[in-house]
Amino acid sequence: MYAPATADARYQQLLAMLADALDSTPTSQALLLIEVSDLSELHARIGFAQSAALMQALGVHFASALQRRGPVVHFRDGSFCALVSDTRNIDQARLAADKLSLRMKEVLTRAGVHTLAAHIGIALTPLHGTEPEELLRKALLAATAARKHELDMQIFNEGCAAEVLQHWALTEAFTTALDAGELSMFYQPKVRIADGCCTGAEALMRWLRDGQSVASPDIFIPIAEKSGLIHTTTWFALSNALRQAASLGSLPVAVNISPAVLLHREFLDMVRSATSNWRTQAGHLTLEITEGALIADFDKASSRLSRLRDLGVRVSIDDFGTGYSSLSYFKKIPADELKIDKSFVSRMLQEPADRRLVETIVMLAQQRRLEIVAEGVEDQATLEALASIGCDYAQGYLFAPALHADAFRRWLAGRNLRPRGVTESE
Ligand code: C2E
Ligand code: CA
Ligand code: CA
Repeated sequence: MYAPATADARYQQLLAMLADALDSTPTSQALLLIEVSDLSELHARIGFAQSAALMQALGVHFASALQRRGPVVHFRDGSFCALVSDTRNIDQARLAADKLSLRMKEVLTRAGVHTLAAHIGIALTPLHGTEPEELLRKALLAATAARKHELDMQIFNEGCAAEVLQHWALTEAFTTALDAGELSMFYQPKVRIADGCCTGAEALMRWLRDGQSVASPDIFIPIAEKSGLIHTTTWFALSNALRQAASLGSLPVAVNISPAVLLHREFLDMVRSATSNWRTQAGHLTLEITEGALIADFDKASSRLSRLRDLGVRVSIDDFGTGYSSLSYFKKIPADELKIDKSFVSRMLQEPADRRLVETIVMLAQQRRLEIVAEGVEDQATLEALASIGCDYAQGYLFAPALHADAFRRWLAGRNLRPRGVTESE
């Protein structure tokens, strides 16, 4: 049975159908919530009418794949709910979800659509509950966890629910973090290996409440990117970094830029405004873009980077070595600096393959006259190995972690009192 739902009251209709089906079939059942991703892309590519027809066809195929073992409801755009009877255990529920995934791939391939994916969340009755609302909520939490971890399917469990709920709570808290004054910029020194001189700093964002970290940037920057708050967040990062660098005697500063911000039509204006507000020489601002972001949309990203360099701003390619850029791309990257990813640097003394990779990156960068920075330098032996390879600059806990502006000022003052040299050990 396949029931296409009308626009309003879809949810009530769904709950009523589930209640009926649960009442009429006393055996254990599995509720499968199938969420098709990237629907907006499909709408844009083939139009609303065709994508609606495709979703309708999918619903019919889902029902036939399950051989009439329960209702399938298309209850909102791209979201289907199937209640599968006679599902006695988790393996049988997985089998049913596998059938739906397979059928979806067949239908889409026949329609010439190859990019759509679906994530299936599964809740079982009576194991996870007996009420329609409860089962639906748990299947939805499981589907959200599946999407987050890029899995085809996820059976509900308390762990994945807690993770999803915590992520939603963080997302909500982040919307007020900036206004609440909870975001700040910390600074990590960039050191010239040859003479130990601090030649600049990387600005790294922190989310602190009552002096305690709420979440690390690896968690909250993706939240900012997904919620669209990344643009205001980047403005905050740029203007604070330039203001604080000005108070540090015009120290060159580097700011991390997310791909969506780099490609935004107003980004060049944002950079112009920030540098003019703080009277920053353009060459004292470096923008760090990850290699992965550059490769993802090379033509667009590289033309944007060229325009930034025309303004005089420096461009650094971050996490270099992780994005697999080919030599043909490498020759064309419009940049002033490469930062070797810390995963290679931290293993270079133990893993010959990582050391060879670092040597190759340094050699390639030298040929293109790019400055080369090793990140994640934590010990003296690694610093010396980098010096012998010809790497120019280093960043890492060996010198200092990212510091609050006041602590950075003290660190800088202390460092200037010491004789400088390649050696850090005292
Ligand atoms: P990233 O740009 O690669 O920054 C380097 C990360 O490595 C920082 O983590 C830094 O604290 C850490 N690190 C520095 N030295 C060492 C070391 O010696 N050993 C180890 N193990 N780690 C070291 P953090 O601050 O947690 O930032 C993580 C990522 O978040 C950054 O990676 C960057 O991609 C992003 N991020 C941070 N601030 C911003 C921001 O203002 N805007 C954007 N778009 N992204 C940001
Ligand atoms: Ca960086
Ligand atoms: Ca990095």
